[in-house]
Amino acid sequence: MIQNRRPVPERNGRKPVTYMKILVVEDETGLREALIRTLTGEGYLADGAADGDEGYSMICTGLYDLVLLDIMLPVYDGLEVLRRIRKQGIDVPVIMLTARSTVEDKVGGMDLGADDYLTKPFAMPELLARIRMVSRRGTGTVTDSRLKAGDLILDTQTYTLSCSGSDRSVRLGAKEYQLMEYLLRNPGQVLSREQITQRVWGYDSDAEYNNVDVYISFLRKKMKFVQAETKISPVRGVGYELEAAGT
Ligand code: CA
Repeated sequence: MIQNRRPVPERNGRKPVTYMKILVVEDETGLREALIRTLTGEGYLADGAADGDEGYSMICTGLYDLVLLDIMLPVYDGLEVLRRIRKQGIDVPVIMLTARSTVEDKVGGMDLGADDYLTKPFAMPELLARIRMVSRRGTGTVTDSRLKAGDLILDTQTYTLSCSGSDRSVRLGAKEYQLMEYLLRNPGQVLSREQITQRVWGYDSDAEYNNVDVYISFLRKKMKFVQAETKISPVRGVGYELEAAGT
């Protein structure tokens, strides 16, 4: 498959707005912090973990769209983290980072389900290009600035929701947009109220779980307005799932 490597165009010189959330699992504090700063500066949301155990636990929250995973880590190494998450059925894209550039390491990581591999030291533009490429292979399909699932289309530049089966479109508010983007990046997956709350309102917010239900109802009205067949289905006692339908 030919990958579209062209970066998302900037809007009025500003970085494109994206709420893609990246986890940096790296034990070298300086490098971890530099990566988080760079990613944040590029418009991503980024968190850090300093060892294999912390990284594994954070990945298991399901909050991350992409993981940068160092191989040489304390507690247990990056290959073990990758082995554990894939065994759990977590298919988040992973880019391995390592100082070791042996063929065995690379093959080992790819065999375990890594999406890409970057040897240290690397240039930040190279890393950012890999992130863009890997993130486009995700479950939700990104075409230029558009995220799609079934007949539903979200323009990440204009915050506009539309449907391939109608000519209607509607603009989303900031929280609606974040929630819709999260759903579109995880079609067919059950997202718990807790995951959604943390993802859209953040760890430190006092947002109540019922905020999620309120915003889901806003989104459903807008999806109905654009006549989408794709639905947000409730999963009793857990949360919600985006069911892609139509084309
Ligand atoms: Ca390391």
